[in-house]
Amino acid sequence: MKKQLLVIGNGMVGHHFAEQLMASDSADEFQLQVFAGEKHPAYDRVHLSEYFEAESAAHLQLGDADFYSRDGINLHLNQPVLSIDRAARKVTTATGEFGYDKLVLATGSYPFVPPIPGREQDHCLVYRTLDDLDAIRESAKGATVVLWWGEGCWVLRRRTH
Ligand SMILES: Cc1cc2nc3c(=O)[nH]c(=O)nc-3n(C[C@H](O)[C@H](O)[C@H](O)COP(=O)(O)OP(=O)(O)OC[C@H]3O[C@@H](n4cnc5c(N)ncnc54)[C@H](O)[C@@H]3O)c2cc1C
Repeated sequence: MKKQLLVIGNGMVGHHFAEQLMASDSADEFQLQVFAGEKHPAYDRVHLSEYFEAESAAHLQLGDADFYSRDGINLHLNQPVLSIDRAARKVTTATGEFGYDKLVLATGSYPFVPPIPGREQDHCLVYRTLDDLDAIRESAKGATVVLWWGEGCWVLRRRTH
């Protein structure tokens, strides 16, 4: 009976962990389940900007396209973990509860937006995920002014018409 190893987060770190585990002597010891907050499998966030120039995000995907299915890993896309019950050793998502023997948190970070007036406006957007870039692309249609603040942190955009 394999032990249940759950990874929360399918970013660069969560993906690298899965790759390293599968390449290690411990691979057969665990049934690996990965919970991704995003709908895309792990991608190269460092080169995120290239998505603006590409037709798709395929070239940014980390590892082989069939890495997870080939190695028998259950990848739960677009399924953020909502809570962790450490006493009962289980996590909860929108679809149910999943027990674990080992739990790895690889949840990364999020773009903090300072409490500046106007940040709640529709066209004030953050810049961290592929979905963020889709939102920026959509928002930029017909735009004439773009304000950029921070090191790839967030974008503030204003319509002038
Ligand atoms: C535009 C850009 C350029 C960058 N350039 C560089 C660079 O040049 N050099 C450098 O060193 N770093 C760079 N970084 C930072 C680098 O991308 C991060 O340090 C790295 O992605 C961190 O990886 P991570 O897996 O720890 O976290 P993340 O990439 O943040 O991934 C964490 C994942 O966990 C998921 N998650 C969070 N909570 C939950 C939950 N409850 N349930 C399920 N999933 C959850 C998130 O959705 C996310 O997909 C850049 C970042 C950006 C945005």
